[in-house]
Amino acid sequence: AVVFHTGNITKTYRMGEVQVRALRGIDLELYEGEFVVLLGPSGSGKSTLLNILGGLDVPSSGTVRYQDQDLSSFNESVLTRYRREHVGFVFQFYNLIPSLTARENVALVTEISRTPLAPEEALKLVDLGDRMDHFPAQLSGGEQQRVAIARAIAKRPRVLLCDEPTGALDIKTGIVVLEALAKVNRELGTTTVVITHNVAIAAIADRVIHLSDGKIASVEVNTRKKSPS
Ligand code: ADP
Ligand code: ADP
Repeated sequence: AVVFHTGNITKTYRMGEVQVRALRGIDLELYEGEFVVLLGPSGSGKSTLLNILGGLDVPSSGTVRYQDQDLSSFNESVLTRYRREHVGFVFQFYNLIPSLTARENVALVTEISRTPLAPEEALKLVDLGDRMDHFPAQLSGGEQQRVAIARAIAKRPRVLLCDEPTGALDIKTGIVVLEALAKVNRELGTTTVVITHNVAIAAIADRVIHLSDGKIASVEVNTRKKSPS
């Protein structure tokens, strides 16, 4: 099934006299359960596209359909519910609450969801079953990012959008984080879109979409994706 369909979306930012064309006609279909990576140089439009899919930004023209609904038809309260219940976000910085344990950070989110994963279950999925009562300061960067992933999936979103989740981590730690995302994708079937420059991503992704200058330059389908062991 198609989860997202974008029809010729463009995005132009206006700053006084200056116009920046961040997206210049993106046609894309994302399928249920897919693990997709957005690659491209800085400024090529990756974050803008991700933010539009997540309802954090709106295109200047074109359409975004989510499960056959046009995002532009959502009023403010429907859009808020879409962002809160259907989409999980992971960013470069973890934004954990320092005075709360890993379990408590995840539990905050499960309170607003109707069909949450137990915080313990979400943390076990990202292999932090033995760190649940640790505070953020007692965890490594990679562990903190995995807590942020557990928090994002605890509300059982249909879609997980990750903007440079490995951006603050070294290569090896980044791989551990990407493998956690791959496991979530496999076990929960969450459609996942990730922006990362980590070289390990090629083995994990179903498709790699290369952006250049606000356009799709090429798409690689990974036919050799490692099957889960
Ligand atoms: P990064 O290079 O770390 O990925 P971003 O993707 O957030 O950073 O931003 C890329 C560029 O977009 C920045 O160099 C900045 O000039 C511009 N930019 C991002 N957000 C804004 C904003 N709210 N207002 C103006 N310019 C912005
Ligand atoms: P990427 O994620 O590939 O680095 P972005 O989507 O962040 O690219 O940015 C694409 C272009 O849009 C860049 O030229 C950036 O400077 C510009 N841009 C992004 N966000 C803003 C913003 N809020 N205001 C103005 N320009 C922006």
